[in-house]
Amino acid sequence: MERFDFLVIGAGIAGLSAAIRLANVGTVLVVTKEELAESNTAYAQGGIAVAMGGEEDVALHLEDTMAAGDGLVNREAATVLVSQGPQRVEELLDWGTAFDRAPISEGGELMRTREGAHSRSRILHANGDATGKEIAVSLLRHVREIAAIELMEWTTSVNLMVEGGRVVGATLLDGEGGLRVVQARAVLLASGGAGQVYSDTTNPAVATGDGIAMAYRAGAEVSDMEFYQFHPTAFSAPGAPRFLLSEALRGEGAFLVNAKGERFMERYHPLLELAPRDVVARAITLEGMDGPVYLDMRHVKNDLQARFPGISKFLAGYRLELGRDLIPARPAAHYLMGGVRTDVQGRTSLPGLYAAGEAACTGVHGANRLASNSLLEGLVFGALAAETMIAEVPQGEVGSTAAPAAAAVGVSTEAATERWIAELRELMWKYAGLLRDANGLRQAQRGLEALAVSMPKGLFRRAVEARNLHAVAELIVISALGREESRGAHYRNDFPLHDAVGRHSVMQQGRLEFVA
Ligand SMILES: Cc1cc2nc3c(=O)[nH]c(=O)nc-3n(C[C@H](O)[C@H](O)[C@H](O)COP(=O)(O)OP(=O)(O)OC[C@H]3O[C@@H](n4cnc5c(N)ncnc54)[C@H](O)[C@@H]3O)c2cc1C
Repeated sequence: MERFDFLVIGAGIAGLSAAIRLANVGTVLVVTKEELAESNTAYAQGGIAVAMGGEEDVALHLEDTMAAGDGLVNREAATVLVSQGPQRVEELLDWGTAFDRAPISEGGELMRTREGAHSRSRILHANGDATGKEIAVSLLRHVREIAAIELMEWTTSVNLMVEGGRVVGATLLDGEGGLRVVQARAVLLASGGAGQVYSDTTNPAVATGDGIAMAYRAGAEVSDMEFYQFHPTAFSAPGAPRFLLSEALRGEGAFLVNAKGERFMERYHPLLELAPRDVVARAITLEGMDGPVYLDMRHVKNDLQARFPGISKFLAGYRLELGRDLIPARPAAHYLMGGVRTDVQGRTSLPGLYAAGEAACTGVHGANRLASNSLLEGLVFGALAAETMIAEVPQGEVGSTAAPAAAAVGVSTEAATERWIAELRELMWKYAGLLRDANGLRQAQRGLEALAVSMPKGLFRRAVEARNLHAVAELIVISALGREESRGAHYRNDFPLHDAVGRHSVMQQGRLEFVA
């Protein structure tokens, strides 16, 4: 049994941003499933949206966030995001994050780009298209200098420990397969999204929704799980990974063209290629029924290799070049708007448990996230959650006699577990993906029931993830079936219209409710 003041599950932008603050008052253990650098944060390309141009800029950022969220954004959370964002980004700059700047001869100002549904160019980027990596590296550099923070890699949290209704720690599976029990005065879930629940995703392997599944099992409320953002443009070639082709490509002028070489976005939205993501993703899916869809930058005169070095390097592996070739693209699961339900201070419905970043749902993105708002979300709400944890930390001994949850009986093989996971991911892509209806969602539900019979058993990472993916898939399907309307990223062919009033779905212990 190990004891820390605070346990932070996840080392992405939300977890690290929180840990830095928590370390001011106590000991902090940060656990992460793989190497510290492996998180969704590290893969972020386009940038971080932040209104650093004064009050008007902040007000416009708020309006853009509200509009993208399609009537479901929590205005209080969005106001906190856009108004506290500039201060948090200044801190990042102080900690050494090197965002791209104009040459010194031209004033050395921070460069800003624009992405879909932003009314202004307000997105800071680093090393062209490697913003997340630069942020992760600079945060980790800073965190490593703080003695009160212990970093534990290759460690998977399995279950939360709850005693007397309060979360008092978690059980962890270390790199050698050993079970560890960690007690803490407060626990922060900063475990990121769940893109791996779909066969087609831009998310890395660590994104299996573990934190959400753990919180739900422990009795916490989970909200808006039907809202999965499908990024319109992930690379599309047989056998190739669904590598993200950043929205910044369209921000820099890329057109979308169909198999006939026609630009088609004017038929779908007045903002054309920079329309909200859900609109662009659906348009590509519909146009893609008649053949491939491409990003076309052949008319763009900027130095695209310099602006997008990471994407250019990836494409070179397929003998493709931005500005010279048509680049095949189609949607992939990208960002979960839903998650563990929290208030803007990061409190979940369980005492002792807090959540921030993609694992959490403050309602800040509503039904559809505005591009590049999620790095900012992790930064702002990670810091806020830490402040709340500090303010509410119980004094005295945090004792727990709770024994870790017993492991399932029996052990599945690695190969059987991989096959089972692949089946679940295909099922979700086919029936609970971008275009949904009751028949398909019921098929998904039946498929999940059938998979539950052969649920992978045992205490090894992939079996733990398999069970979590199943829990997250069920939450998505049940919430999607319950939402009989189309809104933001959730599109129902059988209910194409909006309800008059936007409501959030909330699930707790098998019950689904819709609340204002
Ligand atoms: C390809 C790609 C490009 C993107 N581009 C942008 C962009 O340009 N701008 C933007 O704003 N957003 C972008 N996003 C989204 C953004 O990167 C994420 O939403 C954000 O980084 C999430 O941060 P986080 O700290 O909440 O989670 P993450 O960064 O995903 O970190 C989660 C952490 O939790 C750990 N973890 C998970 N489960 C467990 C467990 N059971 N036990 C222990 N540790 C666990 C993981 O190992 C990881 O360390 C992009 C996402 C992807 C995938």
